[in-house]
Amino acid sequence: MDICTGANEKKGMVVAMEKILIVDDSKTSRKFLKNMLTESGYEVVAEAVDGVDGVEKYKEVHPDIVTMDITMPHLDGIDAVSEIMRVDPNAKIIMVTAAGQKSNVVEALKRGAVDFIQKPFEKEVIAEVIKKVMEEE
Ligand SMILES: [Mg+2]
Repeated sequence: MDICTGANEKKGMVVAMEKILIVDDSKTSRKFLKNMLTESGYEVVAEAVDGVDGVEKYKEVHPDIVTMDITMPHLDGIDAVSEIMRVDPNAKIIMVTAAGQKSNVVEALKRGAVDFIQKPFEKEVIAEVIKKVMEEE
């Protein structure tokens, strides 16, 4: 992991490619998201199949952004947010939600998630949310 070169690289017009971790128990959702993110110029560095796996992979790859499904076995997305925020209080986690999960989204935001995107996925919307999240600080 190289922490020293980042600052200089970001001074120029070229912005580093954001590294993304996808956490979702649905293989289809992961594939969809990965395709969209890749097409938008992001680098998907890892995929996790449930909340426990998500926390582990977060520690391994230290991504810039996490997309987090809510309903998953072993550890759901809400508790995974708590775990990751404990590991890294600056983590940027975007919840991926289906319709009718408003109260879950509110809870996830309370626990430290920064934003959310809704299924069905739209490439432009996802890219816009990630851009917004990366600009905040
Ligand atoms: Mg799920």
